[in-house]
Amino acid sequence: MSAVPQERRLVTAIPGPKSQELQARRTATVAGGVGSVLPVFTTRAGGGIVEDVDGNRLIDFGSGIAVTSVGASAEAVVRRASAQLQDFTHTCFMVTPYEGYVEVCEQLAELTPGDHAKKSALFNSGAEAVENAVKIARAYTRRQAVVVFDHGYHGRTNLTMALTAKNMPYKHGFGPFAPEIYRVPVAYGYRWPTGAENAGAEASAQAIDMINKQIGAENVAAIIIEPVLGEGGFIEPAKGFLPAISQFATDNGIVFVADEIQSGFCRTGQWFACEDEGVVPDLITTAKGIAGGLPLAAVTGRAEIMDAPHAGGLGGTYGGNPVACAAALGAIETMKELDLNGKAKRIEEVMKGRLAAMAEKHDVIGDIRGRGAMIAVELVESGTRDGAKTPDAAAAAALAKACHQEGLLVLTCGTYGNVLRFLPPLVIGEDLLNEGLDIIENAFAGI
Ligand SMILES: *Cc1c(COP(=O)(O)O)cnc(C)c1O
Repeated sequence: MSAVPQERRLVTAIPGPKSQELQARRTATVAGGVGSVLPVFTTRAGGGIVEDVDGNRLIDFGSGIAVTSVGASAEAVVRRASAQLQDFTHTCFMVTPYEGYVEVCEQLAELTPGDHAKKSALFNSGAEAVENAVKIARAYTRRQAVVVFDHGYHGRTNLTMALTAKNMPYKHGFGPFAPEIYRVPVAYGYRWPTGAENAGAEASAQAIDMINKQIGAENVAAIIIEPVLGEGGFIEPAKGFLPAISQFATDNGIVFVADEIQSGFCRTGQWFACEDEGVVPDLITTAKGIAGGLPLAAVTGRAEIMDAPHAGGLGGTYGGNPVACAAALGAIETMKELDLNGKAKRIEEVMKGRLAAMAEKHDVIGDIRGRGAMIAVELVESGTRDGAKTPDAAAAAALAKACHQEGLLVLTCGTYGNVLRFLPPLVIGEDLLNEGLDIIENAFAGI
């Protein structure tokens, strides 16, 4: 495993003096539109620890946004990527191909849901994978409309900004956006007006009615959904919602796309989150956790759909870079060998138990949700938990700040900015996990 000692250590204030110096250089030269959650500059990371230039060691509950599920310096990733670097860095798969790309596609065919014939195409980023899923679905169906959901997040390129729900910070001032994108309700149980128990049936009926009446099912190329919504607030669509939407897509010749870029690759305790309700997507987009930190993304799906675009219609200079493919094979090897699905389930058990105890004391915790190592608490103003559920973004910001100062890296998310989310590397030790939860518990006591 990682050479970084697996223990929290604070030797300066957070951020420390060396980080502050680097931050000044950064501010002078890095575009202001690129933010950082916590401006401590990293020197090493691995397992459940991020070490900074001042020698502080932070407990990592972020995994670089659900990327380093196997840790940020996993042995098999480093070994395979290093060996590949020695051999060659690039040929461009569209110029002369190489085995690693094919092996990653074979792994994707094996690991993704469904036993139908599958094919994949590899890209560099999640947004690029989603864009290509839309291209493939349009080529296959010869239709144009794309349906997405409230609270959905799919990326920052022009098409994926259009697919993304939240204006600030993702879209504001960056329009005009791509046409033929339609947004329908999702079964957000905690905030569903008639109660979580009705959300699955009612939201799917509303979404389907809108598609039929406002778009026309026969015009829809693709329905794209995150099986657990990430940036929107770790929303698990209420039971029954995903199967109903998936069935509607099948019945109407629409390509059903599961965007598993955040929820995939063991993050939720299954290889893919859509397995939870036995949903088999036509196409599945993956990125983040796939390659242990190297940039790689994929679209995987039914062979006849994937083969719809004309030869040369898909690709890109770097897509499926050989070093990234080698890293992906190392990451997948690690997931299998260490049973990271089992580890994710254990993380859920520990986290939910501790968070439930905190919710008994602190009524700012409105909801605890998520699966595996994709867990969140939604924060509401005190006294509104059982009524108005007024989002409390200030509490999320204050809690995150308190955690950062104690050396615990946590992230926020949510349409209302009021969700504290936890995405530890799946290889994190249980002692570090509990220490992180101690810090969160103290932070709740302090606000
Ligand atoms: C992060 C994310 C994306 C975009 O991926 P990038 O690699 O940042 O382009 C798309 N969809 C989901 C669900 C994501 O979480």
